[in-house]
Amino acid sequence: MKVAVLRETCPGENRVALVPDLLPPLTKAGWQVLVEAGAGVAAGFTDSAYQAKGAEIVADRQAAFAQTDVVLQVRCLGANPEAGRADLDLIRRGQVLIGTCDPLGNPQAIQELAERGAVLFAMELIPRITRAQSMDVLSSMATIAGYKAVIQAADHLPKMFPMLMTAAGTLVASKVLVIGAGVAGLQAIASARRLGAIVQAYDVRPVVKEQIESLGAKFVELNLDTAGSEDKGGYAKELSEDQVRRQQEQLADVIADCDVCISTAAIPGRPSPLLITENAVQRMRPGSVIVDLAAERGGNCCLSQADQTVVEHGVTILGPTNLPAGVPQHASQMYAKNMVTFLLLMTKEGELEIDLKDEIIRDTLVAKDGQVQNSRLREMLG
Ligand code: NAD
Repeated sequence: MKVAVLRETCPGENRVALVPDLLPPLTKAGWQVLVEAGAGVAAGFTDSAYQAKGAEIVADRQAAFAQTDVVLQVRCLGANPEAGRADLDLIRRGQVLIGTCDPLGNPQAIQELAERGAVLFAMELIPRITRAQSMDVLSSMATIAGYKAVIQAADHLPKMFPMLMTAAGTLVASKVLVIGAGVAGLQAIASARRLGAIVQAYDVRPVVKEQIESLGAKFVELNLDTAGSEDKGGYAKELSEDQVRRQQEQLADVIADCDVCISTAAIPGRPSPLLITENAVQRMRPGSVIVDLAAERGGNCCLSQADQTVVEHGVTILGPTNLPAGVPQHASQMYAKNMVTFLLLMTKEGELEIDLKDEIIRDTLVAKDGQVQNSRLREMLG
């Protein structure tokens, strides 16, 4: 059995789907690993580092597709909508592709891959169950994004985060608000606290209050009945129009008093909830910073623009959509661990076995036998 690791072609994508240190568990299970030349360079992993762990380097991408049963990527076509098209002609019928592919945001791409005969596993759809935690790329990448959002905010803020009492006077600690306390939000809270900021956080799911407080931040309580706002998968549900309006009004008072606002609120497969209005931005102090991690799906702030830095009303608003690519070495290490665990789940006695009785494999499979396999995606495609 052979598995390929490709060089990522999406602009700005520095991660790689497998790191050299994670080759041994694959080879032990019977996999031969082919790495496209230069695949790991942007993340700090040289071809020779892969070779030292037993990989074969192939110069030609076409050969990587032609010679392997399984292809590992960070971004397959759906998550790499332009450059990813070049791979469509290289895929062999029945070839297994594993990577992120934005199934809920780009179901058409999944259909195209299905029509090419790909057996596609969307890593975004790994179920949020305990057994699957080590395969959960959304969590591992959100951890990196939460950390990096704080670093970017600190870099743009004209103040320091910690309180300092010096011979040159006392500096007051910066105030950080984190909106959305999922995986990214909780990491942002912890990172901002480590830098010495005063942190408060808000989430529509009341169950996260305890988690926020355990990280030493204050939970922001709004006068808004959001009991029942969590679905059975642990994700937030969309709010009613009236709740949205009341949430925006009440949050504006909290935001006005903050130096930094990091927003991470998301509803899977839906546009991001709009939480930071122009009025709220106007009320912030000049020099304040917003990092909107939801910018890719429309943003939590009405003024944010994906992958742009805009300054409005004296406030710097960042809308980064791929922060993990800015920490490529650790991001690749975590992503690779997720990939290897998933591939080993499908490896039985030296053979690839797609056992659809396993919930993790079944939920993640989006294309096979020329068809889109996921009922939600089929509904979206009409
Ligand atoms: P996400 O990226 O989907 O959303 C980020 C946060 O935004 C969530 O906490 C959500 O409640 C919040 N949010 C949504 N709408 C909001 C609004 N209008 N106002 C304020 N906040 C809003 O979330 P995620 O980080 O992927 O995590 C979702 C859930 O899954 C969490 O409960 C997390 O703990 C859980 N989880 C479980 C596992 C596991 O058991 N294996 C792994 C990862 C995450």
